[in-house]
Amino acid sequence: MYKNESMAEYEYCIISQFDDKIHEACGVFGVYNNDDLDVARLVYFGLYALQHRGQESCGIAVNQDGEITGHKGMGLVSEVFTERILDRLDGKMAIGHTRYSTTGGSSIENCQPLIARYKDGRMAIAHNGNLVNASKIRLEFENQGAIFQTSTDSEVIANLISRHGLKCRNLEEALIKTMEIIEGSYSLIIMTSNKLAGIRDPWGIRPLCIGKLYNSYILASETCALEAVGAEFIRDVEPGEIVFIEGDSIRSIKTNYNKPHRLCIFEHIYFARPDSFIDGASIYNARIEAGRLLAIQHPVDADLVVGVPDSGITAAIGFSRQSGIPYGEALIKNRYVGRTFIQPNQKMREQSVNIKLNALRTEIEGKRIVLIDDSIVRGTTTKKIVQMLKNAGAKEVHMRISSPPVKFPCYFGIDIASKEHLIAANHTIEEIRDVIGADSLGFLSVENLLESPVGAPKNSFCTACFTGDYPINVPQGISEKQNCERFGY
Ligand code: 5GP
Ligand code: MG
Repeated sequence: MYKNESMAEYEYCIISQFDDKIHEACGVFGVYNNDDLDVARLVYFGLYALQHRGQESCGIAVNQDGEITGHKGMGLVSEVFTERILDRLDGKMAIGHTRYSTTGGSSIENCQPLIARYKDGRMAIAHNGNLVNASKIRLEFENQGAIFQTSTDSEVIANLISRHGLKCRNLEEALIKTMEIIEGSYSLIIMTSNKLAGIRDPWGIRPLCIGKLYNSYILASETCALEAVGAEFIRDVEPGEIVFIEGDSIRSIKTNYNKPHRLCIFEHIYFARPDSFIDGASIYNARIEAGRLLAIQHPVDADLVVGVPDSGITAAIGFSRQSGIPYGEALIKNRYVGRTFIQPNQKMREQSVNIKLNALRTEIEGKRIVLIDDSIVRGTTTKKIVQMLKNAGAKEVHMRISSPPVKFPCYFGIDIASKEHLIAANHTIEEIRDVIGADSLGFLSVENLLESPVGAPKNSFCTACFTGDYPINVPQGISEKQNCERFGY
């Protein structure tokens, strides 16, 4: 169905230049064209702006007169698409996806958007999130003889829509029925022969927003992608809401599941781009505020504040402003590191850090450094960076983290499925300090973290990876042990 099915030649294990961690954050983007837009190029630029949400694979599906075709491949948006490919993709609507692999391994079949045929025609699905009951539903279907072509949750969603489509009067009912069954995190963009639908799960765990460009509508994971294509932000899709876009009408259905709003707080800490807004709160301001509160919570006498690029920079600026300690650019990141073809084992992870980062001796030598990063997950990268500063002559390195210790696995975007990979799950703060080789170590408290997204209600976040307080009961089918088996740990 995709024009470049031959891309399946990518058999080897590919991981992006970023090490995989616990959460997942894919990027989704869609356009309903009411003007004379080049939809494929528009989605291309939208995905480009969402590249930070996933670097493993990407794809674009277009709808031309109800026929859906597409192109997808492993790698960055700029590597997968060429002018010639984009020229071939034309239509009335288009959706795209950048993937950070979680459920379903790293392979071409699992790239999105997923294109499926069903009774009423074709549909394409782009999904950001992770269902906690997908394996159970899938098993039921398989027991009834269903065949699956991918190992993704998204195909389970496509099956549910198709099955309910047979019984329901319209797509709307089929989607509502599907939402009653699936559990977990999902921000979805679905393209059918004549409509574009945007759906956010009842907890609003992942972001999704609506924009407008001339008379055309856009759906995107983050507002930065709207700005990238010159579109105007209209509003966020609400938790549990389905929006249908057809022609110049935009219609909303609010499913009434009465779930509490639980945006993944890691969007503010790490995933989203600082120039984005989610549910009314600025990511940049949240990170500045987290850094400011961190300086109050864990003050230290030092000469220079340094942020780990790129994720720690904004919080470091906030820390510097609050503490009065000057901010300096003492770690230089190579911005041209492409996709690295490395085996995702611990040893290679440790080695890859030097390619990405270098320490600026002239700025560091003889100084007491406060080193700020957004999070510690495994502790491997952090250890390497502390060592790098010491090797460059730092007198002291005081590590400050603008989020609490990650102690619990995330079931709504699983990558590390097991606690044993999370350094804070089985070490005290003092032990972690010792492992990473810092002179002191301080994490932001959960209370302070929840203060940081200014403008968003404090109780509207999922903090399960810090507190173990999961918004959704993790079904028994997903025990930690099974997760480990599923992910080969
Ligand atoms: P660690 O010391 O735990 O090996 O690495 C810490 C770094 O991992 C931090 O700089 C943080 O930005 C990054 N990080 C945290 N969560 C994630 C994630 O889910 N995915 C990726 N790729 N990096 C993450
Ligand atoms: Mg980082």
